[in-house]
Amino acid sequence: MSLTLDDISFDQQHIWHPYTSMINPLPAYPVASTKGVRLTLADGTELIDGMASWWSAIHGYGHPTLNAAAKKQIDKMSHVMFGGLTHGPAINLSRKLIDLSPEGLDKVFLCDSGSVSVEVAIKMAIQYWQARSMPKKHRMITVRNGYHGDTFGAMAVCDPINGMHELFSQVLPKHLFAPAPQSRFGTPWDPADIAPLEQLMKDHHAQLAALILEPIVQGAGGMRFYSPEYLKLARQLCDHYQVLLIADEIATGFGRSGKMFACEHAGISPDILCLGKALTGGYMTLAATLTSTQIAETISSGGAGCFMHGPTFMANPLACAVADASLGLLEQTPWEPRVKAIETELKAGLSPCQDFPNVEDVRVLGAIGVVEMKQPVRMAEIQQAFVSQGVWVRPFGKLVYVMPPYTISSEDLQTLTTAITEVVKNH
Ligand SMILES: *Cc1c(COP(=O)(O)O)cnc(C)c1O
Repeated sequence: MSLTLDDISFDQQHIWHPYTSMINPLPAYPVASTKGVRLTLADGTELIDGMASWWSAIHGYGHPTLNAAAKKQIDKMSHVMFGGLTHGPAINLSRKLIDLSPEGLDKVFLCDSGSVSVEVAIKMAIQYWQARSMPKKHRMITVRNGYHGDTFGAMAVCDPINGMHELFSQVLPKHLFAPAPQSRFGTPWDPADIAPLEQLMKDHHAQLAALILEPIVQGAGGMRFYSPEYLKLARQLCDHYQVLLIADEIATGFGRSGKMFACEHAGISPDILCLGKALTGGYMTLAATLTSTQIAETISSGGAGCFMHGPTFMANPLACAVADASLGLLEQTPWEPRVKAIETELKAGLSPCQDFPNVEDVRVLGAIGVVEMKQPVRMAEIQQAFVSQGVWVRPFGKLVYVMPPYTISSEDLQTLTTAITEVVKNH
């Protein structure tokens, strides 16, 4: 069942791809199958995957344990509504999430995708202050260079410059933006870094429901790694000014930054935690928003008497069963030393890029490697160059970055970093 040229041209003419023009789309590479850390294209070309399908396939593709969990569950029950009904997969998964996540988070809302979990978090924060008779506290505060998803609530807290604020400025709620943290991870902390956030919170806390940020790693808004000190102080400011802290760990969750959750770098717990991406090991879409008993009970004591959200596919049993198996795998496999080793190998493998005149910066944290170019990459050309080197790397803007499955071998990782070095040098 190989694809014909006709199929590819149908794809180009009729199917939207992420952030892609319908007038002159670059052709998408047809994938026939995936296994381990490899994508096999329709023409038989094998590519070592550097992207883990956008942070999600942490155990690699087609893992026998996850395949078995999906098959077992689909024969029992693929989906059933969650209103008035419950099931084992949701219960087992939620138990694990509460166990693994930072202290104090023990109420779980299972939803469809990362963006929806951010919408849920924002709604929880707003309903919380309403229930406490402080309805004026309904605005969000965040930092620049953030990315929280593509739906309206989430877009409104994405970076106002590289996000979509200009296009949608008439309809997006106006939130507050502090500058992005400047103190880099692993470098000395500059106390002046937190001052702008502190000032904004001091001036506006009467209107603020929550501070939302990506802990330690800012993902799609710039691939920046910042000091845990910033996060620690942000937590203190939230306590001081009565503002909830929403940690968006959709990208960083489940070991990617070297800790199970990036909040652990700062030893803090958020009031609300968003999870997604790697939750099902990359098998299907599922996300979760966790919060504390105090917040959940306050919301439920408000006028509405409940939290006002309930998606059709809430807690989809198939997705929950695979997520439960994926977290089980994480618990059983020594992911922590593996991520550490990937970090060391990425640092060594990408370091030659530092000397290239077209490269601005090279940075690595956990199983995330970033080469920031001085100019935006020429997408069609660089994409082709990576494929010719036998690797799958999908840059955006000035950023050439990888976050491979944790199961990648040292040999494959070396092929990946060598390919990046070669392609970047000649781009
Ligand atoms: C990907 C991402 C989202 C959005 O998740 P979707 O599943 O794409 O809706 C939100 N926040 C962060 C930090 C992300 O990386």
